[in-house]
Amino acid sequence: MSDLLDDAARRASTYLEGLRSRSVEPAPSAVGRLDALRSTLPEQGRAANDVLRILDEIGSPATVASAGPRYFGFVTGGSLPASLAANWLAGAWDQNVHFVVGSPTVAVLEEVALGWIQDLLGLPPAWGGGFVTGTTMGNFCCLAAARDQALLGAGWDVDENGLFGAPDVTVVVGDEVHTTLLKALGLLGLGRRRVVRVPVDAQGRMRADALPRLDARSIVCLQAGNVNTGAFDPIREITSRARDEGAWVHVDGAFGLWAAVSPATADLASGIGDVDSIASDLHKWLNVPYDNGIALYRNPEAARRALSMTAAYLPQGTESQRQPCDYTPESSRRARGVDIWAALLSLGKSGVIDLVERCCRFARLFASRLSEAGFEILNDVVLNQVLVSFGGDETTRAVVQAVQREGTCWCGASFWQGRAAMRISVSSWATTEEDVERSIEAIVRVAGASRA
Ligand SMILES: *Cc1c(COP(=O)(O)O)cnc(C)c1O
Repeated sequence: MSDLLDDAARRASTYLEGLRSRSVEPAPSAVGRLDALRSTLPEQGRAANDVLRILDEIGSPATVASAGPRYFGFVTGGSLPASLAANWLAGAWDQNVHFVVGSPTVAVLEEVALGWIQDLLGLPPAWGGGFVTGTTMGNFCCLAAARDQALLGAGWDVDENGLFGAPDVTVVVGDEVHTTLLKALGLLGLGRRRVVRVPVDAQGRMRADALPRLDARSIVCLQAGNVNTGAFDPIREITSRARDEGAWVHVDGAFGLWAAVSPATADLASGIGDVDSIASDLHKWLNVPYDNGIALYRNPEAARRALSMTAAYLPQGTESQRQPCDYTPESSRRARGVDIWAALLSLGKSGVIDLVERCCRFARLFASRLSEAGFEILNDVVLNQVLVSFGGDETTRAVVQAVQREGTCWCGASFWQGRAAMRISVSSWATTEEDVERSIEAIVRVAGASRA
């Protein structure tokens, strides 16, 4: 076992060191070699060190270097060193975190990490939450609690009776709602299309003046951080009205929520403490390994009603003992909180703030340099997101593809209010100013060649 794990650590270190110099997008030849993995399951098992060697020799070269410093696709963080190392140790522990009795250590680590996150975001200690796979499931958990509460107020117990014959619930979203929130609504029986869509402004922010009439059976879904522009819905303005009318306010803050930690960007998230629930990713801007997200609840009891279960052989949560599975869809699951606890402890408060501010500064650097080079920035760069047009849609798409193929960095393609764009998202702890300069140089060079 010891030699095997040493070998795994050596291979992982070599892999991570290689990320600084290799092409961010894997070479087509390396992707082609993955075919060697498509064998039938052999009759006889292979030695463990052989298994690891095959994985590394064939698998590693065909990975996307998203753990490296010059990956700006989607909104993708890397893994902070302490978090990755803690994740390995927790892998050895192989703890099941469903109940406290399954892992006293992880239960405490998750309580502590939850408290730290609430503190960083300025949420009162009475809030609660659960650690989930990502914001998709975070949205799902929060909206399950919202749905239950809205219907309970109308005398309908949806957990017992389901939605057939239930009173109506109105779900309000901005026109720029993230598609995963709609998926969560579909899973909850609330319907992906059965929503009231509120028009948005040029940055993708929900227009507060266009909000429909709300009541106690309304759920308003706001966004903290548009996936293209980084813009925030006017949280304070909409929340104060929604709460007056008795509606539940949920925020999808997958990456943008973290703006709340820095004085430089906290204004964007102003009012976040007044909402009812928040979903966020930890594998994005907090740079914790996949998969890691959080659902935060103003009233943890509402979430517990929707997500807990009972059986004779299962321990029950009490006031003094929080059972992890009372706040998430899963029962058995891995020790997610370990990665999060380690990331936060290694950063400290100032490290979290610095991470957010650094990424925002690099985003502004991308925007100013690319603008100076004659390219158009399509969004107000308020956070870590930059949208660039290189001319017509065809040209922009060609430049995005050529930049990906060139390999210095990786940026994705998007479409913003009728125009093709390159989307640059700066989210990794590993990115340095030199990485940004190298990436800008590559983008300008490749775009120049494409346009010629
Ligand atoms: C990434 C993202 C999601 C989905 O998060 P997953 O981690 O993929 O589940 C939801 N909303 C927004 C705004 C996002 O950026």
